[in-house]
This record gives sequence, structure tokens and C-alpha cells, in this order.
Amino acid sequence: MNSVNNGTVFKGTAVVPGVRYAKAVWISPRPELPQAGDVISEGQREAEQERFIQAADTVAQRLTSRSEHAEGAAAEVLKATASMVNDRGWRKAVIKGIQGGHPAPYAVVAATTKFITKFEAVGGVMAERTTDLRDIRDRVVAELRGEPEPGLPDVNERVVLFADDLSPADTAALNTDYFVGLVTELGGPTSHTAIIARQLNVPCVVAAGEKVKDINQGDMVLVDGSLGTITVGADPETAKEAEQESKLLAERIAQWRGPAMTKDGHRVQLLANVQDGDAARIAATQTQAEGIGLFRTELCFLSATTEPSVDEQAEVYKKVLEQFPDSKVVVRSLDAGSDKPVAFATMADEVNPALGVRGLRVARANEELMTRQLDAIAKASEELGRTEETSPTWVMAPMVATAREAKWFAGLCAERGLTAGAMIEVPAASLMADKIMPHLDFVSIGTNDLTQYTMAADRLSPQLAYLTDPWQPAVLRLIEHTCKEGQRFNTAVGVCGEAAADPLLACVLTGLGVNSLSAASTAIAGVGAQLAAVDFETCKRAAQAALNAEGATNARALVREILLGE
Ligand code: PEP
Ligand code: MG
Repeated sequence: MNSVNNGTVFKGTAVVPGVRYAKAVWISPRPELPQAGDVISEGQREAEQERFIQAADTVAQRLTSRSEHAEGAAAEVLKATASMVNDRGWRKAVIKGIQGGHPAPYAVVAATTKFITKFEAVGGVMAERTTDLRDIRDRVVAELRGEPEPGLPDVNERVVLFADDLSPADTAALNTDYFVGLVTELGGPTSHTAIIARQLNVPCVVAAGEKVKDINQGDMVLVDGSLGTITVGADPETAKEAEQESKLLAERIAQWRGPAMTKDGHRVQLLANVQDGDAARIAATQTQAEGIGLFRTELCFLSATTEPSVDEQAEVYKKVLEQFPDSKVVVRSLDAGSDKPVAFATMADEVNPALGVRGLRVARANEELMTRQLDAIAKASEELGRTEETSPTWVMAPMVATAREAKWFAGLCAERGLTAGAMIEVPAASLMADKIMPHLDFVSIGTNDLTQYTMAADRLSPQLAYLTDPWQPAVLRLIEHTCKEGQRFNTAVGVCGEAAADPLLACVLTGLGVNSLSAASTAIAGVGAQLAAVDFETCKRAAQAALNAEGATNARALVREILLGE
């Protein structure tokens, strides 16, 4: 067993802010997977098949019953995992293996491997779903062997849970009275672990790297979900103080009320990022969001095999729009492709999909895909009686790189009476803002992709997380340039990437001159409370320091010093 020296700090990707000091506990081990070899006689195959069906049914029932005791995204995740165990295609593949003579545990492994290979070949969101597949495989294999269910250990004290990657079902079943922090070796900021951790509001660090395996069961650890650090053997007094301070901050955040402004009254619109009607309802009822700054329409259609009709699309969009009947909603046209494969709008077999035909580029070759979507957005907006004055419905295109693309998109919007904007997420769009902005009413900076393309680093790669960091001064310089051009052309500039969800970076963005910030619902109060604690001049000073920093770490440190006095 390896051990870790006191004071060792591990660094991962910060996902949910908050500091917790508790014992480390590792997730219960996955079962040893059987190898090929044993063959069962023909006479036993029927019974073996029955044994498999029973085991799969038991696992599915357990997950379903947990889903009935969970809420929101957690319940959805558990239901989705249960439905994978019930998937006819997967069950059929296992049964075929048993009928071919494999014992049930091996047939489960072999069938699942086939599915994993298929999902990985599709890549993107589908590849992230392979964690779910491995999870159901392990649960069914353990059940077949009469072994305890792999996953969350039974605990009766506060612990920080460590895992290579948490399965969605594990994360969704977490009791947050005991599991007060989460650390995963793998995963990314968009993984299931991250999504559920945000919903449960459990401080969380992902992609902490292989070295975290050296942390032993029972080691005292200090997890900082804002810095993305895990410290082993921290001084207990200091660690407890840090935890206490973070709880006070959480209380201040809980008490914050909008609208968002700095201490001296400089207003910034604070909006929500959503992907469907449920998320919009949460934003409307549980946050102080003034509207929606990014509705990711492509996420509504990840499982659609054919393009929904204009009427069907309009119904989907209405579910979001109706949650904010008196405020702005920014709808993004389909951002299909790359890590978001939409069956009816994604090029197959691209060598380099992140640099390929994604976002607006798909519609350049298939204009009707775009016009049907715009028709549906206009229809939804009209049927709800929305008006530009009281409840603007704005539309923006992802992946705009040239003025010509912006002009084309703006023309299609104008034909339908829609207010047009573009995402600034390709560096060229920022550099050419003076040519792009005259065609548009607003722009919204997508810092996730802007960082990926500026730093030439895949946003899904855990190894490159140090580069795909929106604190990189190169990214901030492009944002500064966009804001300056926005002022010159009187074009509203918002930020809707993850950068807007980081309270300190939100102050920097405000200092750079952005008019609106749009973030996941769970991040809104934290951003609002931090803005309320500083004045505009301090935001500008922080912005200058970050722009002139040598790198992302340095930028963060300088800004922390200015904004938090650290
Ligand atoms: C972005 O790129 O910052 C963005 C908001 O869009 P997405 O994350 O959906 O690509
Ligand atoms: Mg993007």
C-alpha cells in the first residue's frame, strides 16, 4: 500500500465549490470480471438464461426503487440506468451468448464489451455513457455471483468519497449527510458525477489523476471544490477553519437576492443555462436568474433518430419559453456535431470532429435544417405572445467564424422577425468582431469552446485540463477585445460558457465589460453574491491583473488577492 506524505496536494478540476475536511473512503471494488473459457452444457443453458434474467431484473428493480426515493436529475439518472439493464438489445446479446454456451457472467461481460466498443466509436456524449454500461455489467455480474453490490460503501460518519469514476447510479444514490465531498480520478466537468454533484451541491473535484490512488482509506483529506485541490494530512485546526469559512460563504450565497450588481450598483444581467423545460423550471423557481442566456437546443434531440417536425420542435421550445414569460430567453440554434452527436444533424466519420462540420456549419450545407428550426422558434414565441419589449426571444448561432456566416444567419432570423446573435467561441470570431457585429444585435462568448480552440486543447481531455482553463490570459485577451468592440458597435456582449459560473472569474468578466453572465442554475447565487461583495473599479483592477498574468494559475492567484485579500 502506498502512503502519502502529510501536506501533499493533489490537483484536479474544480466542479462544485466548498471546502470539506473528512476521512477518505474508497468506493467498494468492482467484481473481478470472468474470462472466456468455461462452456456450459446444452441442458444447462435454459436455466442459466433464467438465472441471468432474474439477476438483471433484481438489479433493475433496485435501481428503480432508488429512483423513486430520489428527485430531479438524480431520479432521472437512476431511471435511465435501470432502463439500460432492461434494454432489449443488450439482454438479447447476453442471452445469445448463454445460448452459445457461455456462463451468464461471461456472457454479460462479452455483450457489454460489444456495446462499449460501439459507443466509443460514436464518441462524445455516447462515449461518456460507457461508464453507465460498465456499471450495469458489474452490478449484474456481482448479483449472479451472490457478491455484495459494488459501489457506495456503508458509512455512518462524514466522509469524502473517492472513486476512479463514479457511476451515475452511485452518484445519484448518495446520502449527503455522510458523503460530504467527492473526488474522482477520471471524469470531466461534464460527466455524470459532475452533473449530479452540482445538483446535490456536494463539493466535488474530478479528473484528479492516477496519483490520487495513493490516498488510503481513512486518511484525513481537505477537499477544496473551488480550487480543485485535495490536501492530505492538512493541519486539523486550519482545515476546520477553512471548512467553517466555506460554510459561512455558503450561507451568504443562500441569502443573496438579485438582480445582480456590484457593491456600487453596476448592473450585470445574470441568466441561466438550460437544456429543457425541467431545467428552465428549476432556473425560474429556484434561482434569481433574470432569464435564460443559453438554451442548448441540441441537447433536446440527442436521442431523436429523425428530425422533429416544426410543430414538434415548437412544443419542445415552448416548454422552456413558458417558464420565463416576462423575461429574455436566448435560444441557441442546434450545436450538433463533435461531442454532441445528433443523429439527424451530425456528419458521420469525421477525422477531427471538434474542428469539423459542427454547429452552424452543419446548416450551411443544409439550410432547411436551420430554417425549420428558426420557424419553430418563431412559432413557439408567437404562440406564447412574447414580444421584444416585454419578453424577448433572441436566437444565436454556435461556431460562427466569419462575417459572412453571421450575415447569412442574421438574414434568416430577420425574415422571421427574430433578434439575431452569434456565439463567440471560435477565436477568429473574436478577432473579426468589428466585421461580425454590424450584422448582429448581440453576441455571447462561449468560453468552453473559445478556450479549447485558443489553447488548441481538447475540452474533454483530463490530461489537458491545465490548458482548457478559462483563466488562461490568452482567452481573457480575446474576451477583452470582444467587449471593446461590443462597446464600439453598441452590441451587447454576454458570456455563457462555464467561466461565467466561477464567481471570481465572473468579477473579472464584469471588469472586462460584459453585459450579461449565463451559468448553470446551481452557480447563479454564488456569482451574484460575489459580485455584490466588490465594486466595479475592483472588478476592473482584477481584470487588468488577469490580462497581464503569465498564465492561468498566476491569474487566479492575483485575482484572489485583489478580490478576497488573500
Ligand atoms: C461554450 O462553448 O462555451 C458553450 C457555452 O457552448 P457548449 O458548451 O454547449 O459548446
Ligand atoms: Mg460551444
